[in-house]
Amino acid sequence: MSGPLLPGATLGVMGGGQLGRMFVHAAQALGYSTAVLDADADSPAGRVSHHHVRTGYLDETGLRDLAQAAQAITTEFENVPAQALRTLAAQRPVHPSADAVAVAQDRTQEKAHFTRCGVPVAPHAVIETPEQLAAVRADLLPGILKTARLGYDGKGQARVDSPQALAAAWDRMQRVPCVLEKLLPLAFECSVVVARGVDGAMVNLPVQRNLHRDGILAVTEVGAGVVPDDVAQRAVEATRAVAQGIGYVGVLCVEFFVLHDGALVVNEMAPRPHNSGHWSIDGADVSQFELQVRTLAGLPLVQPRQHSAAVMLNLLGDLWFTHGSEREPAWADVLALPGAHLHLYGKAEARPGRKMGHLTCTAAHLADARATARRACEVLG
Ligand code: ADP
Ligand code: MG
Repeated sequence: MSGPLLPGATLGVMGGGQLGRMFVHAAQALGYSTAVLDADADSPAGRVSHHHVRTGYLDETGLRDLAQAAQAITTEFENVPAQALRTLAAQRPVHPSADAVAVAQDRTQEKAHFTRCGVPVAPHAVIETPEQLAAVRADLLPGILKTARLGYDGKGQARVDSPQALAAAWDRMQRVPCVLEKLLPLAFECSVVVARGVDGAMVNLPVQRNLHRDGILAVTEVGAGVVPDDVAQRAVEATRAVAQGIGYVGVLCVEFFVLHDGALVVNEMAPRPHNSGHWSIDGADVSQFELQVRTLAGLPLVQPRQHSAAVMLNLLGDLWFTHGSEREPAWADVLALPGAHLHLYGKAEARPGRKMGHLTCTAAHLADARATARRACEVLG
């Protein structure tokens, strides 16, 4: 194995969204140059990167330019076509690999992988044909029909409570391959971010407790007691098994459901840093984005130390419209709160449901971080 890519080298990322932007920030802080491939001239990551290749993911010239500019390449978006990553991998190290990303892109394959790793998944049925639709067991209803591919933030999903509703929902989804999952009674949700190096070494962030609204992550809390110790331990072990089982290199996040009896059910994985790990920028001494840089460059991984309890609030475009007409939220008032760390992604247009930024409230104790988060919500109104 050759040595690590040291600061001064250029690191590339497929995708120019907010995750790419925070990767770029972390890479630049360590002294790397960066290259982003994204067709949008105004993309959040493209705007702050040294190089910005403005083409689609499958554009041959764009991929060649990225591989020329960057000595190693990662992705910030799980729906980058696996073929694009394969093309890049013929020229440069690419982490995570196209194969690993391909598994995470497809709920059916993803569930099969979890099962192979001995981690329980929700009861479900694969629906790719009318015969499979007709054969769905009644005990999977009420359930959630999810497109096997391309869903995010609750998009590509429908709640169904009868065979008729299921058939109608599948029609509305143009009968693309889907997974029907039983609707589980959740006590809460949590997630774990793990980083795995080329040498197989792994480190992880502490377990994060997540609250979703309308299928979109709204709040993440990290601190003593947010998740019972035994659940946290099982979640970390399961996440490590999932990463190990796929020979994963890079940052991976696994999302879990926790049922009322404490049972842990794996929901899905993201082959990249995750919204629920954003708190680590302000609440830990190594962020999930620095871990992504380290895994990509082949640098040593060190176990992150959480130094503050943290409550992360997602800032959705809705905030811009809370008083009827569009207006800029009261950032100065938010920034007057001790321990409030504002991150805005530089997106020009606010739209309801669009992730515009996040606010991490840190404190020595979780109760204080929660109090700051409550104050921030009042201020943002
Ligand atoms: P996405 O890819 O959009 O994040 P998820 O599969 O993670 O989709 O679903 C989004 C959210 O919907 C979950 O975080 C959870 O709150 C809820 N959800 C999804 N599947 C189930 C289920 N089987 N039972 C109960 N709630 C679910
Ligand atoms: Mg999810």
